[in-house]
Amino acid sequence: MRYHFCPKCGGTLSIEKTKDPNKPKCTQCSFTFYQNPAVGVAAIVIKDKKLLMGKRQGSYAGQWCIPCGYVEWDEDVYDAVVREFFEETGLKINISYVYTVLSNFHNPAQHTVGIWFMAEVASGTEEAGDDLEEVEYFSYADMPVLAFPTDRDVIEKLKTEGFIN
Ligand SMILES: [Zn+2]
Repeated sequence: MRYHFCPKCGGTLSIEKTKDPNKPKCTQCSFTFYQNPAVGVAAIVIKDKKLLMGKRQGSYAGQWCIPCGYVEWDEDVYDAVVREFFEETGLKINISYVYTVLSNFHNPAQHTVGIWFMAEVASGTEEAGDDLEEVEYFSYADMPVLAFPTDRDVIEKLKTEGFIN
């Protein structure tokens, strides 16, 4: 159990009734605290068979990822990926299709479901912003140190399917 107090009334959360660490219940107001993964979104932009990657600052500083972020509450998932990608890279994108969906367990404090979208650049020039300090296109052979194991899986899939080389 990762949370101890009820977000509604401040009462103590307990798994005594539910016996499920993912569904603690408030001992005061009976609110059930469902612990679900957050949704992460990333966009795959490829130019000349090279993949656009971002060098992170903050969490996982100095390591690289496919530009990504979280879907916010009340935000459409397609709007989220376009917003995050623009904030981090300065590029406006059009989403082509969902490339793959994977569960991320690398951070035990925050499991996520990651959605990687295939995208095309509509406008703008590459300029790192928000959580990124650098953006650059990389070929498969020159891929830098990656922050997330699932990005590695996605990159392998892109290589196998001939999108990057
Ligand atoms: Zn409560």
